[in-house]
Amino acid sequence: VVRVSGATKTFGPLRVLDRVDLELHSGEVVVLIGPSGSGKSTFCRCVNGLERLDAGTVEISGDRLSESGPGLAAVRRRVGFIFQQFNLFPHLSVLDNVTLAPRLVNRVPRADAEDAARGLLVRVGLADKAGARPGQLSGGQQQRVAIARALAMEPDVLLFDEPTSALDPQTTYEVVDVMEELATAGTTMLVVTHEMGFARRAADRVAFMDGGRIVEVAPPAEFFAAPTSERARTFLSHVL
Ligand code: ATP
Ligand code: MG
Repeated sequence: VVRVSGATKTFGPLRVLDRVDLELHSGEVVVLIGPSGSGKSTFCRCVNGLERLDAGTVEISGDRLSESGPGLAAVRRRVGFIFQQFNLFPHLSVLDNVTLAPRLVNRVPRADAEDAARGLLVRVGLADKAGARPGQLSGGQQQRVAIARALAMEPDVLLFDEPTSALDPQTTYEVVDVMEELATAGTTMLVVTHEMGFARRAADRVAFMDGGRIVEVAPPAEFFAAPTSERARTFLSHVL
């Protein structure tokens, strides 16, 4: 579903991504971890086309994320992105937040979009909040709306960049729960998170990034039991 090859990105003199290769297969969950500044967010932004690579390629379901081919916008639409800050439209209801892109971008009729959205709100545990404004919701509820909104576009892959970092433990748990259900349901997901419990339970593979490179990729049981790199060992000793 996702194939990143030789991804390289520099900001001035700083090489933030250095020939990164990563593949996500259909239904796979990869958790990306690493120290602050190692390039995790930049990697996510490149995978969804918010940032352009200096070298290397990103393919989503066989099409390159580039101006040629089906077009940047069309390929970007296959990627759902969930940010640390929820980025909901504050003046719109929960239901309108979820239906906006399907209606405007995919031209789905309002009634159909709303039916689908109500189903998604059930899935994220917010069936009773369709009429609320984001400001009336807790952070965890807002993040679950953001997940429903991303799902409404039926993306091929969901990217999460620290989806629970702005949340307290209780609401974090609610969001992680929804993410685990998505993982179980076979959603293809790339997740940057400090929730090592989620990584252990839901990840097929854990990728450890350091200094713009993916230093190590392994199934969680293996990775947490015996990280092979010194950097990963040090990192884990701080987060576990
Ligand atoms: P964190 O865990 O703190 O979120 P991260 O692994 O997500 O860190 P990035 O945000 O990808 O790290 O940043 C990697 C490096 O790139 C950092 O040194 C950062 O300062 C730099 N960087 C990121 N975006 C830009 C930008 N737009 N312009 C210049 N430098 C940038
Ligand atoms: Mg980041």
